[in-house]
Amino acid sequence: MCDDATLRGSCYEIDLEAIRHNYRQLRAHLGGHVKIHACLKRNGYGCGAGPVAAALASEGTYGFAVASLMDAIAIRREGVSNPVLLYPGSGIAAARTIDALGLTVSISSIDELRQWRSVIGRLRVFLKVDLGFFRAGATPLSVCELLAAAADDPRVCVEGMYAHMSELPTSGTRAAREQFGRMRAIVTRAERRGLRPPLVMMSSTDGVLNHPEMDFDAVDPGALFFGVAEGTKGPRSMPLQPALKTVRTRLVSVKRTDRSLGTVPDVAGLRRGMLLGVIGMGWGDGLPRQLPPNITALVRGRRARLLPPSHLEHIRIDLSDVPDARFGDEVVLLGKQGDQTITHEEIAFQWGTDVVGLYGLLRDHIPKIYL
Ligand SMILES: *Cc1c(COP(=O)(O)O)cnc(C)c1O
Repeated sequence: MCDDATLRGSCYEIDLEAIRHNYRQLRAHLGGHVKIHACLKRNGYGCGAGPVAAALASEGTYGFAVASLMDAIAIRREGVSNPVLLYPGSGIAAARTIDALGLTVSISSIDELRQWRSVIGRLRVFLKVDLGFFRAGATPLSVCELLAAAADDPRVCVEGMYAHMSELPTSGTRAAREQFGRMRAIVTRAERRGLRPPLVMMSSTDGVLNHPEMDFDAVDPGALFFGVAEGTKGPRSMPLQPALKTVRTRLVSVKRTDRSLGTVPDVAGLRRGMLLGVIGMGWGDGLPRQLPPNITALVRGRRARLLPPSHLEHIRIDLSDVPDARFGDEVVLLGKQGDQTITHEEIAFQWGTDVVGLYGLLRDHIPKIYL
């Protein structure tokens, strides 16, 4: 077997120090009593839930939150023993694993509470509240009844109560204020009945940057740690650094086309006598299936155009401007090569998404190199 670096034809470079930096920025803005549950859903926004959790745990992060049990398993496999909250996503069939890993489940109804209690002896829960997102969570009207039912069962430990703020089109500052008002009213009612859970949490990235009043006892931002939020526009200004440094692959083929290939297919950019390359990534690796024209990649520090259509594992590249290109050369899709740089904004636009969406397109089978 050859070494790891040689095997890695394509890879993502992830800057764990940038993630740590973003954590420290946030920590410095929060009151000392406010706990951070770092949201690492979708395999830590594509950057690897396990290694990212280990880096954040070493900075002192209180806990983590994920939607997929696989991400929770990845976190525990790194030896991270901090609290892990499961957002809605697992069913009771996974109870043994959840119990063995000491995870906390979200519950939104008395039926959910009963089902989990029937399979886990000592159950840790966070109550999820829907403040007007019309997604998972108990309605503000029903949440006190749910809190009372959970408090009534000595084998249920209510660790907290949380909500996720709506990002739907109706939401603006006013909608945010209304959701905050609903959460405050719930907390007041719970306090009166002696049912207030230890941790109340509703701020994700948008909340921590733009609504400091919503901190309560804990916050659960995700995108912020990967540096994909606008950190310097809101009332809390923090310069954030992007976690994803590079997306790169290699030229897996380079040749001069000639007339023995027959008729040139009707594909824009293909010509007889051109220097044609093939890169070792395609739509199966997260690149767009409908590749727009004019996407460029860097080869030998120069820009070269990718030629649609995109294939599962390969894409053609026009090497006319890189006549010295050779089989095995590095191809940079995001990041720096020589004095050229392809930015997050450029690649997100080309891939038909925004910068957060770009992290969502990162594929788990591509090796990650941690810097
Ligand atoms: C996704 C999610 C978050 C984190 O959102 P960001 O915008 O990435 O900070 C927090 N809480 C819940 C419930 C979520 O689903």
